[in-house]
Amino acid sequence: MRVAGAGRTHPGRVRSRNEDSVLVADPVFAVADGMGGHAEGDIASAVATEALAEVARGDVTRMAVLDAIRAAHSEISERGGKEAGGMGTTLTGLVLLGATSDEPQMLVFNVGDSRSYRLRDGSLVQLTHDHSVVQELVDSGRITLDEAAVHPDRNVITRSLGGEGPVDIDWALTDPRPRDRFLVCSDGLSRELDAAAIAGILAGQAEPDAAADALIDAAVRAGGRDNVSVVVLDVLVEPASTEAPAEADPLDEDTEPKADGLRADTSELLTSVHAPSGEGAHQP
Ligand code: MN
Repeated sequence: MRVAGAGRTHPGRVRSRNEDSVLVADPVFAVADGMGGHAEGDIASAVATEALAEVARGDVTRMAVLDAIRAAHSEISERGGKEAGGMGTTLTGLVLLGATSDEPQMLVFNVGDSRSYRLRDGSLVQLTHDHSVVQELVDSGRITLDEAAVHPDRNVITRSLGGEGPVDIDWALTDPRPRDRFLVCSDGLSRELDAAAIAGILAGQAEPDAAADALIDAAVRAGGRDNVSVVVLDVLVEPASTEAPAEADPLDEDTEPKADGLRADTSELLTSVHAPSGEGAHQP
């Protein structure tokens, strides 16, 4: 199985600095959002993505990825201890494991409120669960998603790389299929564009780099109130693949965007993400 990815990052229209970092290092793809209000957020996000870039250069396994994330957390915590406001970053991403095997898997990992999505057959599913105050309020039924978007604590995340204690990493394995398109993004995208808009743009562009450009453009036009980062990752259809071609290919160049047929189904979150015991953290 082969994938093709494209990454883009943009400071947006308001922030003078870009504290996001993007990694496209096949088979490892990630976005990190260094936190506003923290000193040196750009350093924190770069430490996180560079740790994963190092994994991509070696033997890529689930354990190597999780170990690298924990090591980045420790490094950021140490460096942040010297800064007045500390330093921290979100980190979410995808790793294609066993690409040459019969059963390749896509590892999804997340800490914080950056997100990963999968577009399959025109349906967009959010693969990650935000670690944020507003997500907890939504989960407990105390506020709606609409209220979350304007909540005064909407910037407060409940997990990050950096800070005290161990890091609690959500991760899950999914089965990638040819023609799947994955998206990794910072909240600068997901707050400017709703899921239906994201799905429409993803389905309307044939190539990952064109889709990445279009997402950035749309978020900046919608306000660009934060740094915006995206990675678009396509699972390629191999020439020798035995996969039957899909009836209608929403990613086909000759196909018009089919926004009407899209479903932005965030109710079917793959919330099987978990941090097994011994995998660090979150012990009471
Ligand atoms: Mn952000």
